[in-house]
Amino acid sequence: MATYDAIVVGAGPAGSTTALALARGGASVLLLDRARFPRDKPCGGGVTLRAASCVEIDLSPVVERTITGARFSLRLGPAFQRRYEAPLTYMTQRSRLDAFLAEAASAAGAAFHDGEPVRAVEVGSSGGSASALARAVTVRTDRGSYASTTLIGADGANGVVGLATGVRPRVEEAVALEGNVPCPHGVPEAWRETLGLDVGGLAGGYGWVFPKGDHLNVGVGAWKYAAFTLRPKLAELCRRYGLGPTGLEKLRGHHLPLRVPGSTIARGPVAMVGDAAGLVDPLAGEGIHTAFRSGGLAARATMRLLAGDADDLSSYQRAVDRRLQPELTASRWLQELFHFAPPPYFAVMRRSEKFWRFFCHLIRGEMTYLDFLRMIGPLRPAVGFFAAAAQRRRLARLAGAR
Ligand SMILES: Cc1cc2nc3c(=O)[nH]c(=O)nc-3n(C[C@H](O)[C@H](O)[C@H](O)COP(=O)(O)OP(=O)(O)OC[C@H]3O[C@@H](n4cnc5c(N)ncnc54)[C@H](O)[C@@H]3O)c2cc1C
Repeated sequence: MATYDAIVVGAGPAGSTTALALARGGASVLLLDRARFPRDKPCGGGVTLRAASCVEIDLSPVVERTITGARFSLRLGPAFQRRYEAPLTYMTQRSRLDAFLAEAASAAGAAFHDGEPVRAVEVGSSGGSASALARAVTVRTDRGSYASTTLIGADGANGVVGLATGVRPRVEEAVALEGNVPCPHGVPEAWRETLGLDVGGLAGGYGWVFPKGDHLNVGVGAWKYAAFTLRPKLAELCRRYGLGPTGLEKLRGHHLPLRVPGSTIARGPVAMVGDAAGLVDPLAGEGIHTAFRSGGLAARATMRLLAGDADDLSSYQRAVDRRLQPELTASRWLQELFHFAPPPYFAVMRRSEKFWRFFCHLIRGEMTYLDFLRMIGPLRPAVGFFAAAAQRRRLARLAGAR
């Protein structure tokens, strides 16, 4: 049986980033994906500057557009536009981005097997010394079995690693639906450096227009219980921007898992990263940033275990709880507050240069949600209180409507 220091299941942004960092660190790595690459994945493909700054690799070969401005509308009403003096988000297509990252992991020394779904996982030991953990993991595919010291679950929402090992976070579930509007004569001038965000019309989410090289990606996201609203909302969004919903191609939806703080994402030699760990940013619906960051943290914890400095991957969960989760929790609070009454926030975004610039700093990774909470000073405790009240009210209304 072939043996490795680490097996990474799933070659999305989280898995390939983990495999890349491990291979560069000198570990022997097997990166497995069930899909034959290049493969697409339901996603807007927006890579914010804060996300791009987390990977030690130049993404420019797969960047199709660089966004410096946004067009905001409230519930499909009149739009206003904002512009920034520097890049905010890179527009990619996941088929190209993911293949590029997997190739980078492979070039760094990881063995990349695409088109090879993981069918079963066994973990022989859930603790003990590094030597006791050696080759504790067995992964089975249709092509054979592989042994490993550690296992990274990067297989997205509802992946096989979490199911097989029980290392699964508790999550709140959102969903999103997207499609492409081809632009055979080129993307309209107005969209070339600008993305569109329509807010306030979807429970917990928003609608977007993301320009790519030769098409516009249009999508909507919401809490899972509002999934039935997504198709009509997407059609309305297309009509609002004169994009004709019948022109939408490759319509696809997928889950966005939001981790309940403190829930399990590592045990023994197993750690979950990216969507498999439920690490989507609730307010932004952005998962590539946290996929990259959790991949980096998981690789560091794995290298410590392999070096004999740790007995298990629990330091990964502690690192996420200390460095990532407070941000996600702040985002979750702000999401509840925003969706309780979107119009005032929309008005602030339109009128306040300071608020717009904070938004740009956040997207660029120069400031964080926690910085925002610090900025509002004495109001900070009220944010948690009112977010919890808004959440209770939303859930009570939902229960009443059922
Ligand atoms: C409609 C939509 C739009 C979005 N837009 C954005 C956006 O613009 N920007 C952003 O930052 N985030 C966006 N997100 C979120 C983002 O797509 C995810 O958070 C991100 O893909 C998570 O990356 P990942 O590597 O954890 O998982 P994935 O990208 O889901 O990768 C998981 C991989 O695991 C593989 N896999 C699954 N099961 C197995 C198995 N049994 N064996 C082997 N391999 C397996 C899959 O084939 C897949 O390649 C969007 C999500 C949706 C649904």
